[in-house]
Amino acid sequence: MDYDVIVVGARVAGATTAMLLARRGLRVLVVDRVAFPSDTISSHQIQVPGVARLRRWGLLEAVRAAGTPPTRRLRFDAGEVVLDGSFPPFEGADALYSPRRTLLDAALVDAARSAGADVRENFRVEELVWSEGRVVGVRGRERLGSSVALRARIVVGADGKNSFVASAVGARTYRQRPVRAFACYTYFSGLPVTAGEVYRRRGRLVAVFPTNDDLTMVYLSEPLSGFEVFRRDIEKHYLAALDGCGDLGGRAREARREERLRTTPDQPNRFRLPHGPGWALVGDAGVVMDSVSAQGITNALRDADLLAEALSAELDGVPSLAAYHRGATAPSGRCTTTPSGWPGTRPASPNGCCTPQSPTVPPRSRASSVSSRAPSRPTPISTPRPCCESSAPPGGQEALAAPGPRGVGGRVVTGRCGQ
Ligand SMILES: Cc1cc2nc3c(=O)[nH]c(=O)nc-3n(C[C@H](O)[C@H](O)[C@H](O)COP(=O)(O)OP(=O)(O)OC[C@H]3O[C@@H](n4cnc5c(N)ncnc54)[C@H](O)[C@@H]3O)c2cc1C
Repeated sequence: MDYDVIVVGARVAGATTAMLLARRGLRVLVVDRVAFPSDTISSHQIQVPGVARLRRWGLLEAVRAAGTPPTRRLRFDAGEVVLDGSFPPFEGADALYSPRRTLLDAALVDAARSAGADVRENFRVEELVWSEGRVVGVRGRERLGSSVALRARIVVGADGKNSFVASAVGARTYRQRPVRAFACYTYFSGLPVTAGEVYRRRGRLVAVFPTNDDLTMVYLSEPLSGFEVFRRDIEKHYLAALDGCGDLGGRAREARREERLRTTPDQPNRFRLPHGPGWALVGDAGVVMDSVSAQGITNALRDADLLAEALSAELDGVPSLAAYHRGATAPSGRCTTTPSGWPGTRPASPNGCCTPQSPTVPPRSRASSVSSRAPSRPTPISTPRPCCESSAPPGGQEALAAPGPRGVGGRVVTGRCGQ
């Protein structure tokens, strides 16, 4: 065998899995068809539990040193009701970060390389290599190169929502839900924010977060039913949506838009069985959910953590991939419902991003945190408990395609939309 593990895809899920496996002393190859730094269609809020993992792995400092501002407070405006709170510490992390994917993914690739993984960029996997019903490697090529076969004891598909590996092994899909919303976002200079801002308006959600280079990312999610009209004049409809969010539209018009508007209706919601003979899936390849949940990166970091642990046991002869499935991609049995009226959603809970059952703010004091204006003192916002760390039975409860409040890690009290 050339390697213990070959990982296909080197962004959050793949590079992290490779790094963690290499740190355990395994022989790892991670490949990606692109070279880093490289952007992708994704905004980039990392929820506090994801930040805690980056910190534990010694990677948070690189993200901070690159000038990624922390978001410690968040203002959630549902029209008549506004919550203003701060994130309580979670395993040593007390802020959400929004590093650009060019920065985050490249930092993770560097970390995988430093841990001892072989990294091949511009390498596209075209086929899986099989032996006696088991995946034993990949066949692919570098740009302009000739086809090569590389063998490993396990091949990991970290190749995103349209995973080639998942298709090639015929990974079973379950709990699939239709696309419910499209997303549109861009970056502004001269639109300073002192906290994250989230607005909910009639099936629409807008999120505003600071990111690198003193830019502010402004994200919009709308029900898919409006996509055809929206795409006829994207800028007009995008700004009109911001106009419905307090003074945000005015601030955006006074600011300078630095990048193009990125719009996508490609937002599937599904789980896939994440392992089989000689293969495993991690990140969006295993479970993908609407971007309004802003959980994909945090889920990918969590699942990479769990998969690295399971794979190193598996390769030592201890079957562990079924436990990985239960822990990482099975829905938790203890999730609160999310507000109704989210873009095209119904109350349920997103996989892997449960909010605690019991509110952080006790009922009496919670009442004081709900007002028509932001309270003067920040109220703690409860941090999501990563589902994987509960012992959820497989096939617990229906949980997909129910985006939670974007950027808000915890319980949110909703009111009727004012607009
Ligand atoms: C509009 C939008 C906004 C989002 N905002 C957020 C957010 O704020 N916070 C959040 O947590 N999540 C967000 N997400 C979700 C997040 O982008 C994904 O969950 C995350 O990127 C998943 O990471 P991944 O590593 O699993 O897959 P990807 O990031 O998709 O990486 C897959 C990699 O595999 C490579 N690859 C694919 N096929 C091959 C092949 N055959 N050979 C070699 N390489 C291959 C690709 O080049 C790619 O680099 C958003 C998504 C969208 C669409």
